[in-house]
Order: sequence, then C-alpha cells, then structure tokens
Amino acid sequence: MKIAVLSGKGGTGKTTVSASLAMSLPSCQYIDCDVEEPNGAIFLMPELEKPSPVKVLVPEVDMAKCDACGSCAKACQFNAIAVVKDNVLMFPEICHHCGACLIACPNEAIKEVERVIGVVESNKDDSFLHGKLDVGEPISIPIIQQLKRRIKTKGDVILDCSPGASCVVVQSIEDSDYCILVTEPTPFGLHDLKIAVQLVRKMGIPFGIVLNKASDDSRIIHEFCREEGIDLLMEIPFDQDIAEGYSRGILPVQNDRTWQEKFIKLYEKIERGAGK
Ligand code: SF4
Ligand code: SF4
Repeated sequence: MKIAVLSGKGGTGKTTVSASLAMSLPSCQYIDCDVEEPNGAIFLMPELEKPSPVKVLVPEVDMAKCDACGSCAKACQFNAIAVVKDNVLMFPEICHHCGACLIACPNEAIKEVERVIGVVESNKDDSFLHGKLDVGEPISIPIIQQLKRRIKTKGDVILDCSPGASCVVVQSIEDSDYCILVTEPTPFGLHDLKIAVQLVRKMGIPFGIVLNKASDDSRIIHEFCREEGIDLLMEIPFDQDIAEGYSRGILPVQNDRTWQEKFIKLYEKIERGAGK
C-alpha cells in the first residue's frame, strides 16, 4: 500500500505519525515529501548516501538570433520571460519548465539549459528518501516527481507530505491507496482539516483521521468526524512526555511497546479502509 500522511495545517504532528508508523512496521519505504522542511531523518536517522541533484530545464536566449519579436513572452503563462525594448529578460525561478516559449520562438533563438533546484538523498537500499528544495526556490514539484519515481514496487510506502493542500500535496498524494489526515483539536486545526478532507474526497482517495494532541477540546474533531461519517483512526494525547521526547528527536514508539502496538493497529485499520 502507498499511504500518504498529510495535514491541512503545519505543526499538527504529521511527521510524528508517519515516522512512528514507519518504525512500527517490519519493513516499509519512507519518503519525506515535505521538501521545504524535511525532518523525518531526525527521527529515523538513516545513513544517507551522496545526494543526487534535481535539475529542471529552463530557457536560455541566444541574442544573436533574437529579433525581440515578443512571441516568447506572449506564450509564457507564468510571466517568467519578458521582452523589454530589445532585451529578453528571464526569471528562471518562476519558470514552470513547460517549453512553450521554445515552441513559440520563430527564430529558434531559445534553447533549454539545466538548472539545479534541490537534491534527493537516500540510504543505501532506498528504504528512506527525502528531498530538499534549495533556499529561495519556489517550485518543488520536480523534486516530488523525482522522489516518486523511486517508489519501490513491492512492500508498503509511507509518504510524509507537505502541510497544506497546494499542488505539491496533490502531486504527493496522487496514486496513493490511502490518506491519513493528521489534525489537532483547535479551530485552526478543524478549518484546515476541512480543506484537506475536500481535497482527498475530490481525488477519490480513501482516508481517515488521526487526532494528535487530543485533549478536553477534542469534541470539535469528534463532532466533525461523526457529522461527515469519517473514520477517526487514532488519538494521540496532549502529553508532556511525548512533547519532551519529540523535542529530543525521540518518538513514543521508540521507548514504549504499547505505542508500537497502537501503530500496528492503525496500519490494520488502514488496510481495511483502503479496500472500501
Ligand atoms: S518554459 Fe514555460 S514557463 Fe518557462 S519561460 Fe518558457 S513559457 Fe515560461
Ligand atoms: S520569441 Fe524568440 S526571437 Fe522573439 S523575442 Fe523571444 S527569443 Fe527573441
């Protein structure tokens, strides 16, 4: 199964859930798709090999062939290329690598050149993978695509996604067999959870909710699950020991067998839910 772990809101405990699940299963592939801030490695401590750069193709203009006709700028839907007087200005950071300007140029003045936007790192057997987007780069989808190309065809895969419900999350959860939505019992948590629920419903992926930092305020999430007919798979209490362990890079499953059993039960519920 490919299990994607996402949350509408950052800081809800998405990595706690995905790394704990990865640690509790006898074997699986863990892929950290939160490329702006991957932190699964802090808990899973893989021995990383040499990073592989992630490259994209961006246009480069040969001014000797260019007559400043402006067709490239008109073709670009992302304003990544502009023609000002007799100059062509490129903004490679916002280029979406679609190649439209290349096709539009009547003078064959544009060629594509490689540009590095980040890296993918893995351990020896690819059971751990994460991507890192370079600082200042706004487009992370090519890194997610590179990570997903290395998904193993056998065994379970856990995809730790970025927070939110943007296109990078869509790219990460696409083709998943099941989504775990991690939330917390706050009005912000519920607000962003509703957006994440809309997304997974629209994509037709079976899903359930894990409530982290469960407390006396959990009622708002319980009511939402009941009203919407959503499975509440598991609750992790708001607990000082768990929070202190997390701040030292230790998850409850590492020193408490009962938590391991709870995560195995979570996996079994997912197995049943994925077939619905
Ligand atoms: S490749 Fe696409 S996005 Fe990039 S500059 Fe050309 S038209 Fe714009
Ligand atoms: S379409 Fe080609 S020739 Fe026209 S401005 Fe752009 S690069 Fe220059």
